[in-house]
Amino acid sequence: MKGFDYLQEQLDQMKDEGTFRELIPLESAQGSRVQIKGKEVIQLSSNNYLGLTSHPKLKLAAEQAIKEFGVGTGSVRTIAGTLKMHEEFEQKLAKFKHTEAALVFQSGFTTNQGVLSSILTDQDVVISDELNHASIIDGIRLTKAARKVYKHVNMESLEQALKETQNYRKRIVVTDGVFSMDGNIAPLPDIVMLSEKYDALIMVDDAHASGVLGNNGRGTVNHFGLDGRVHIQVGTLSKAVGVLGGYVASTQTLKDYLIHKGRPFLFSTSHPPAVTAACEAAVDVLLEEPSLIETLWENTKFFKDGLTKMGFDTGISETPITPILIGDDAKTLQFSDLLFDYGVFAQGIVFPTVPKGKARIRTIVTAEHTKEELAEALNAMERAGKELNII
Ligand code: PMP
Repeated sequence: MKGFDYLQEQLDQMKDEGTFRELIPLESAQGSRVQIKGKEVIQLSSNNYLGLTSHPKLKLAAEQAIKEFGVGTGSVRTIAGTLKMHEEFEQKLAKFKHTEAALVFQSGFTTNQGVLSSILTDQDVVISDELNHASIIDGIRLTKAARKVYKHVNMESLEQALKETQNYRKRIVVTDGVFSMDGNIAPLPDIVMLSEKYDALIMVDDAHASGVLGNNGRGTVNHFGLDGRVHIQVGTLSKAVGVLGGYVASTQTLKDYLIHKGRPFLFSTSHPPAVTAACEAAVDVLLEEPSLIETLWENTKFFKDGLTKMGFDTGISETPITPILIGDDAKTLQFSDLLFDYGVFAQGIVFPTVPKGKARIRTIVTAEHTKEELAEALNAMERAGKELNII
């Protein structure tokens, strides 16, 4: 087989099955309405929960940082690429998260990879929810630790895994705080109780909870009043925070260890000044403008209630991530296309991102959406849903 023919064959098969995806470029800034293919549509597919990607305070902070510090850092953090602002931001973040220390990575993805791959050896075991994010799975794959996967949010299955692994040096239970495909919240109080009973470490990935759950968006741990009882909180700066990056909020010991052993931290150049300055401004916004999070939850309720009243199945969602469960891959993509015709951008999520038969449209409302926009989106959903006999 010549060159990349073996890859092209797989792509052709995906095209036959209807799972080949074209990237869809936005022709405008991210926001509640975006321009795609020359058409203005209501955006229901971003993770820009609070609309911070275009918040004036973040933009101003980024502009000022570029003027003063340029556009890049020219080095990894451990050689010559640590700016004073990186450290100031980490201190601010630790204070915000009520933890001793925080460390920023280039993305949420590399944070999970970096943390899991560096703190575990073949003497340890990692116990992971079956629906955890791909970056957790990849992080686990990079370790020599033993693995146990427990049934999704199933505490009996978790306890069983904890019982079976009592002979390891360290056990770490890892869970998403909010699951990205169904929008349900991990039963953290139970996970903490079991992990304490069996003396395991706990790691929570708050990618979809930072800026969304807890006081001022402090995340799942704070939401459940569990500050100080979860050893490792990771999260992203790329979703509600509106910029780019990932973080670990934990102890100074873990931070120091990751600075020495966390490979994505050690071997990849640090964030440009504009990114860090904008992230820092975002934390200020979370503290100063709690009304954004209130609006996000009001919008979520309005939209979810509307969908349920129309007869759509939104599954087990408890957060702004609201899936519309359809089942069939082709029908889901057809529904998404029809919504686009009616002025709404809501991407279909099909196999292999979700199992066969579990295809869905995943919607995420933001604090930026107006009630009028959400009502317009609901109308489009009703029209398309009736046309395709989904409702
Ligand atoms: N964890 C979870 C649960 C996520 O949904 C994502 C984003 N897709 C990530 C980690 C990765 O975050 P980032 O986009 O910052 O790399």
